[in-house]
Amino acid sequence: MTSHDKLSDEPGRLAALERYDILDTPAEGAFDKITQLVRAVLNVPMSAVSLIDADRQWFKSHPGLEISQTPRDVAFCDHTIRDSGPMIVPDATQDPRFCDNMLVTGDPGVASYAGVPLRTPDGYNIGSLCAIDTRPRAFDPAQIEILQSLAAIIVEQMELRRIAERDFLSGALTRRAFIAEMDKAIALFDRRQRPASLLLLDIDHFKRINDSHGHPVGDRTIQAVAELCTMLKRPSDSLGRIGGEEFALLLPETDEDDALLAAQRFCEAIAKLEIEHETPIHVTASFGVAAIGTGRLHSDGWLGAADAALYEAKRGGRNRVTVAPLPRIRAA
Ligand code: GH3
Ligand code: MG
Ligand code: MG
Repeated sequence: MTSHDKLSDEPGRLAALERYDILDTPAEGAFDKITQLVRAVLNVPMSAVSLIDADRQWFKSHPGLEISQTPRDVAFCDHTIRDSGPMIVPDATQDPRFCDNMLVTGDPGVASYAGVPLRTPDGYNIGSLCAIDTRPRAFDPAQIEILQSLAAIIVEQMELRRIAERDFLSGALTRRAFIAEMDKAIALFDRRQRPASLLLLDIDHFKRINDSHGHPVGDRTIQAVAELCTMLKRPSDSLGRIGGEEFALLLPETDEDDALLAAQRFCEAIAKLEIEHETPIHVTASFGVAAIGTGRLHSDGWLGAADAALYEAKRGGRNRVTVAPLPRIRAA
């Protein structure tokens, strides 16, 4: 696919945006520092890091702008991402594309705009970095060059974070990133009693695979199990690599009964998996399931409960699922 084709590959573009897992995350200093710099250097009252989702633009950073998102069809940045170069609108009221736009005729009263695409290393424009003024004005080439450099820094920042969160071998979240997801589920349970469940899985007799076929085949087995889990899980579920051949799945909005069913599905699918080799390799895995609840309001306690259930599954003969019973709350 040429870089020109990528400009019209909307599913590819949305998948590229999805990989960063950034939409609807809280504001962060690293991005705000850049937009503040844009305000100072380009002398504009507003700047934004705008990401173009399927139907909306969502701002990761938006100093000077009250709103945190807009419908996509009024987004200036949606025009910026259609090309590889900067988009400059010196006077929006005189531009037929924008003169009727509600962001021009109403709040925040956009009169001029300069935006450059946020282009991923694989060539997708996922959003833009922009400078916005409430009066018509020109932007000089040196200012646009600065905007382009800052846009490149933003993408590098996002890319580094993505790499840091993922385990290189399996593509699953690292232990640290997974625990951050658990902490979010714990906060949701605390605030709004939203259920969530944790599945912990450990490949059975994995040492034998390494010993009889070698470490690289062991690695491929770990990859195949992670790929299968990624395929089977819901988009809102997270997969983390917790240890060598131990993975965890976090299932938001899922109670113990449904988590048990899910774990059984994963367990059966792993047992059916064929890992390509001279003679195909088969593996099984044991699962421990723990729903969020009392005594599990810290990631250590929650992981510990799932780990105890996993241990029971191993003791019970492996290739099976065990649920960690929720501690009873005694009446006073
Ligand atoms: P059990 O059924 O009790 O889980 O038996 P097991 O053989 O799987 O036991 P254990 O969990 O103790 O062994 C895991 C082995 O996984 C030990 C370690 O050498 C191997 N291992 C850990 N990380 C990796 C890795 O990244 N690649 C490969 N190939 N092997 C790994
Ligand atoms: Mg293990
Ligand atoms: Mg094991």
